[in-house]
Amino acid sequence: MTSNYLIVDAHEDLAWNMLAFGRDYTRSAAETRRLEQESDTPAYNGNTLLGWPDYQAGQVAIVFGSLFASPQRASPGGWDSQVYADFEQAHRLYWGQLEQYQRFVDRHSDQFQLVKTYSDLKSALAGWRKPLPHYGLPPEGPQSSPVGLVILMEGAEGVRKPSELEDWWEMGVRIIGPAWIGTRYCGGTHEPGPMTKDGWALLERMQDLHLTLDISHMDEKAALQALDGYSGRVIASHANAKALLKGIETNRHLSDRVIQKLVDRDGVIGVVPHNPFLRVDWKASDGKAAVSLSAVAAQIDYICQLAGNARHAGLGSDFDGGFGYGATPAEINTVADLQKLAPLLQQKGYTEVDIAAIFGQNWIKLLEKTLP
Ligand SMILES: [Zn+2]
Repeated sequence: MTSNYLIVDAHEDLAWNMLAFGRDYTRSAAETRRLEQESDTPAYNGNTLLGWPDYQAGQVAIVFGSLFASPQRASPGGWDSQVYADFEQAHRLYWGQLEQYQRFVDRHSDQFQLVKTYSDLKSALAGWRKPLPHYGLPPEGPQSSPVGLVILMEGAEGVRKPSELEDWWEMGVRIIGPAWIGTRYCGGTHEPGPMTKDGWALLERMQDLHLTLDISHMDEKAALQALDGYSGRVIASHANAKALLKGIETNRHLSDRVIQKLVDRDGVIGVVPHNPFLRVDWKASDGKAAVSLSAVAAQIDYICQLAGNARHAGLGSDFDGGFGYGATPAEINTVADLQKLAPLLQQKGYTEVDIAAIFGQNWIKLLEKTLP
């Protein structure tokens, strides 16, 4: 496969997978699938799409690794160890995931590194090939480089009070999404509502620390309020355009108003290659063949058309985040196959510079502006 563009994937629940399923992302997706054949993991979370060799094959240089646990009322079942009944428990789980990332990079520093600062970003990118195809491939063929992990907190109920945010920041959290379903901070997926008093207090402290706000999962009302009220950087790490999902009932995706405001605020949106997020009536029984990667290209194109340029669309796969191989488009075997989007975008008239921006440079520019 020609994989010449550098990819930044803005959403993967890696710590959750490591702790809930014991997944070891130093292995290839194929190896993990083989090892999990006799286990229940594929039934709960699908067959994995991720692994270090696949990041290498797909030139996935940077991943936003989430901290994520479910509140008990939305618990998927007894198999999930990352479920909280109260905020103290949420704090322990979220902190435990942060420590998990630290242990993971300590143990596998040749394969994964935390990206907490601008200089971490530079060193994480240094080993990768130049992001534009006309630089050509190095003569020695595929090279291996550590994958940089940026820590993103999803559903911020692990933060007990805003004054605690400094500790999270010190430990490396750089992006926070206050919602998953509704939280005490704001309305969320399936649980609509505005920003709350606690939500504004959280945002105020986030602003002081120059944390990036992730509006993914925020209800439209809360997202619009936050886009007006938050003066720091704003992104949607993993969400699609609602306009292409006619008839969809959930509030999970982004209205044109929200996309337009994100663009005005110089944000970036990570498009999610998850079949029910691409075709409203898709069911598991339809199989992965029923959705093609062209639906992902259409999502990217929609955001670029609204923006009037290619500077605000990116990728936020959410791979292994509650779904796996079977619920991704036909052309996707692993994360490396995201590279197959390039010819589809080319056919739509996107230049090499545009594609490099969408695949990774838009996120990299954002990180360059926000990391200390
Ligand atoms: Zn999510």
